[in-house]
Amino acid sequence: MQRDEDEDIDAFSRYQDIVDECLAGRTEGHKCPHCGDGDLECKVDEIRIRVRCLKCGKFFEGMMA
Ligand SMILES: [Zn+2]
Repeated sequence: MQRDEDEDIDAFSRYQDIVDECLAGRTEGHKCPHCGDGDLECKVDEIRIRVRCLKCGKFFEGMMA
């Protein structure tokens, strides 16, 4: 379980800047932090944010504070 938690924290830190940008209304033009090449599709609603890579399919989902 400890390893999973570490990976979550690491993933969150890699997506943090992108999440902040999306919350500020800039959902276009981000590059995937996982593969470094794919365009990201960002969707924000009242309760959560979803960021998905259109190339490798890796996604990040976060709940609103
Ligand atoms: Zn990717």
